[in-house]
Amino acid sequence: MKFISTRGRAPSLSFADTVLTGLATDGGLYVPESLPTFSRAEIAAMAGLDYEELAFRIIQPFVGEDLSDDELRGIIGRAYSTFRHRAVAPLVQTDTNEWILELFHGPTLAFKDFALQFLGQLFDHLLKKRGERVVVMGATSGDTGSAAIEGCRHCDNIDIFILHPHKRVSEVQRRQMTTVMSDNVFNIALEGNFDDCQNMVKASFADQSFLPDGRRLVAVNSINWARIMAQIVYYFYAALRLGAPEKTMNFSVPTGNFGDIYAGYLARQMGLPIDQLVIATNANDILHRCISDNDHSPRPLVHSLSPSMDIMVSSNFERLLFDLYDRDGAAVAELLADRSAPMHLDEGALARAREVFASCRVDDRRTVEVIREVFESSEYLLDPHTAIGVEAARRVRLGSQEGREQPMVCLSTAHPAKFPDAVARALPLEKIPLPAHMQDLFERAERMKVLPNDLSQVHEFMATALVT
Ligand SMILES: *Cc1c(COP(=O)(O)O)cnc(C)c1O
Repeated sequence: MKFISTRGRAPSLSFADTVLTGLATDGGLYVPESLPTFSRAEIAAMAGLDYEELAFRIIQPFVGEDLSDDELRGIIGRAYSTFRHRAVAPLVQTDTNEWILELFHGPTLAFKDFALQFLGQLFDHLLKKRGERVVVMGATSGDTGSAAIEGCRHCDNIDIFILHPHKRVSEVQRRQMTTVMSDNVFNIALEGNFDDCQNMVKASFADQSFLPDGRRLVAVNSINWARIMAQIVYYFYAALRLGAPEKTMNFSVPTGNFGDIYAGYLARQMGLPIDQLVIATNANDILHRCISDNDHSPRPLVHSLSPSMDIMVSSNFERLLFDLYDRDGAAVAELLADRSAPMHLDEGALARAREVFASCRVDDRRTVEVIREVFESSEYLLDPHTAIGVEAARRVRLGSQEGREQPMVCLSTAHPAKFPDAVARALPLEKIPLPAHMQDLFERAERMKVLPNDLSQVHEFMATALVT
C-alpha cells in the first residue's frame, strides 16, 4: 500500500518509510492512498477473535509487502503481551446502553500504550532488517513520554531521549519515566516549560549535525501513522463485543490531538457500523467550536484537570480535513497556510463532518461532578479525561431517541490513579491504589539529567551519551 501527503506535493511512500518518517516534505501528514474496507460478512467473521488476532486482521492490509504475516503477528504479540488484562481492552457497563472501554491496562496506565508498545516493536523490527540504528527524541508534558519510553526500552536499535519541563510534571508521571533503568533510555529535565522542550526538539530535527555519524532522529509523536493505525483495532474489538455488524453504535472520545478519535473515524470508513463519534473536549475547545459554530480559531492554552487534552490546535485534524475536501491536497494546503489565523470550513465540508461527528465541551467543575456522580450511581471510578467523555456522551444521547437506544461506548483513556488530585476533588477517598506492578513506584531509584534551556548543552549531552 502507498501513502500520500494531505498537502498533495510530497512523494508517496511505502508503509515502512511512512512509519519511519515524520511530517511529509510539503508539511502534510501521510494517509493511505485508499482505505481497506471490510464487508458485513467479513466483520461478522471477526466476532470472538482475541485482541491480537483481530489486530492482525485489521492492520495487515495496510502493511502490504513490507512485513510477512509471521513478522506482523510477532510484532503484535510482543506489543500486547505487556498488558495486564487478558482481554487487553475490556468493556465495563456503567448505565443502560452505556459502556466504558478500558484502555489503561498497558504499562503506563494510559491508552497511549496501545500505539507506542506497537510502534516500539515495529521500529525495532524494521530497523533490524535495514541494519540501522536511530535516535528517538521527543518532548512530553506527561503521558506521551512514559509511554514512548516503555515502548522503546527493550529495542536494540533505538536510543531514546525524552525532554520534560523540570518540576512541571506530576510525580507519578515523572517517576514512570525516570525509574526505567535501561541503558538506551535518557531523561532530560529541562529548566523551562513544555514549549521550550518542544522548541528544543524541533530545532534538533532541523539540524541533526550534532549526532554521531550514521545516526538520525525519528519522531514518535501522535502524527505517526502507525500510532493511528494501532488505535483502529479497539473500535472493532468493542463493537464486535456489543453486537456489530448487526448493531450500530456510537463512541465518545476524550480528545486532544485528534489521533484517537480519528482512528474511530477510520474504523467507520472501513465498514464498522458506527453512527456517531462524539468529540469530547475540555476548556481547550477548538474542535468543539469548529463542529458547532464553524469557528476553528486558536485561543490561549488553558491548564485543566485533564492535562493530556490541553492543546491549542489538534495536529491530526488535518487528516480529516483531507477527506472533507475530497482528498484535494492543494485545497488543504491553502486552508492551513496560516495556522495561527482563524479557519472556516466551507458549507459542504462542515455538513459532511457533522454527519459523523458530534461535539461537546466540559469544564473542570463539571468534570469533578461527573466523577462523583458516576461513582455514586455505579461504583465506578473515572479519571478526569474519561469523565469528560462520559459527560459528552450523555449530553449528546439525550438529544435523540435513536441515540438512547444504541449502545454508547466511552473510551477510558487513563487509570484514575494517574490523576489522584482531580479524583480527590470529587470524592473523599483514601489514596487510590496504583495497580500491583507499580505499587513500589515511589520507592524506586530515579535517573535523569537536569539541563539548562540551552540547545548546545542538550546536544552535547546527547552526543556524549550516544558514543559511550
Ligand atoms: C493523549 C491523551 C488524550 C488525547 O488523545 P488524542 O489522540 O491526542 O486526541 C486523552 N486522554 C489521555 C489520558 C491521554 O493521554
